Amino acid sequence: MIQPIKAVFPGSFDPITNGHMDVLSRACKLFPEVTLAVLQNQRKASKNLFTIEERLEMLRKATEHLPNVRVEAFGGLLVEYMRERGATVILRGLRAVSDYEYELQIAHLNRQMNPDVETVFIMAATRWSYVSSSMVKEIASYGSKEVSKMVPPASAEALVKKFAEQQ
Ligand code: ADP
Repeated sequence: MIQPIKAVFPGSFDPITNGHMDVLSRACKLFPEVTLAVLQNQRKASKNLFTIEERLEMLRKATEHLPNVRVEAFGGLLVEYMRERGATVILRGLRAVSDYEYELQIAHLNRQMNPDVETVFIMAATRWSYVSSSMVKEIASYGSKEVSKMVPPASAEALVKKFAEQQ
């Protein structure tokens, strides 16, 4: 018998954008449980604008309306984290061919480490395919309000607060 599939959407979400939200809300129609697994990576920590606690709070606010979404931090190997949670699907978004090469390698590696794990890709919506967390941070750093069109309100608020603190 096929068990209800638990999916995990891993990422930095620094911050979460409308592109991530689109992938997530579409995945919620496919899987009974989707966990946003926020990468707590020591090596990448200095590259992140938001702390892990700030990102968890932002993500919880942004996904309040999605009942089958959980938000958690994770470190270490993704496949180990999934094994512990009984999750078998890794969810990733694809924006362009440039994402594909990297994603293909990671998907193969993860399946090599745990053959029960499948990576499922959701194509980015055309309207958000140009949006990335790094571009959003760049635009927000100049104080532009345009980012509020590219991110959920929880991210927009967090960006304004963060750049005000840095002034
Ligand atoms: P990572 O640091 O793991 O790349 P990100 O938070 O940047 O984490 O992205 C997480 C996932 O969301 C990746 O699969 C990425 O391709 C996807 N993604 C990022 N931006 C978008 C977007 N605008 N539309 C759809 N998917 C996206």
